Amino acid sequence: MIFGAIEAGGTKFVCAVSDENLSLIERISIPTTTPDETMKAVIQFFEGYPEIKAIGIGSFGPIDINPKSDTYGSITSTPKLAWANYAFLDVMKQHFDITYAWTTDVNAAAFGEIKKGAAAGSSSCVYITVGTGIGAGIIIQDKIIEGFSHPEAGHIGIKRHPDDHFEGNCPYHADCLEGMASGPAIGKRYCDSAKILDPTHQAWEIEADYLAQALVAMTLIVSPEKIVLGGGVMKQTQLFPLIRARFKTLLNGYVVTPNLEDYILPCALGDNAGLTGCLLLAIDAYHK
Ligand code: ADP
Ligand code: ZN
Repeated sequence: MIFGAIEAGGTKFVCAVSDENLSLIERISIPTTTPDETMKAVIQFFEGYPEIKAIGIGSFGPIDINPKSDTYGSITSTPKLAWANYAFLDVMKQHFDITYAWTTDVNAAAFGEIKKGAAAGSSSCVYITVGTGIGAGIIIQDKIIEGFSHPEAGHIGIKRHPDDHFEGNCPYHADCLEGMASGPAIGKRYCDSAKILDPTHQAWEIEADYLAQALVAMTLIVSPEKIVLGGGVMKQTQLFPLIRARFKTLLNGYVVTPNLEDYILPCALGDNAGLTGCLLLAIDAYHK
């Protein structure tokens, strides 16, 4: 049996087909331009696999995940205007009448990490991506947490670091977590790309403070077995010890957590987390 995956990102769509053991049969990357152009290539790709059983889609968002909603399966209020209110899932269903799993890109990556990555063997985890934006996927008892919509934990409030005078760059909240700690926020604060700041720069201590605040909140609210961190900014591996140290100070022993080296972890699947999660979600959806 073969299954499909679409990791729909703001810069590229990655589509793949695999067998039930996740052995990849084919994988392509398509630039995210207009829905017409990008989706034409997506549909062409899957037309090559008429025997496909189910497709898992992890999309950039916000997206409508409420099955009772009239606009279920759409991308909703994205700043990528060509994609706002785009009925993604409907378009796929018009072309391929099969089973689908539909969730956010970060939820898909969280699912990949808990089944096959850094949180494998656990039944709960929080996965946080720190890249162009900040997003979190929360899994409890092997289920992706959803309410009236998906969590938007990248936009929680945080306390400003006393040495930080950056106004923040979230268009909705200015100095929320994403506004202060995303890759572009680091870049704007120091008039440089986050990629080229020296590993000993004070930027990383401030970054670790903000991420540790978010991880403390996650720990207090969710009590996950693992917290997994991914995304471009987390390629700065010096952040991990800084985050763990700050986390310990902020939590101040109030909750006895697992050993922090086993609790706050780098992602294991890297750029494949989302795609792996989409495939696993497709397989799950098919068997349900
Ligand atoms: P996206 O979030 O767009 O899917 P990434 O997770 O790669 O993609 O995030 C891109 C952001 O991460 C950019 O703001 C970039 O500056 C930052 N980034 C990418 N690589 C690094 C790195 N090695 N060190 C620090 N920041 C990085
Ligand atoms: Zn915000």
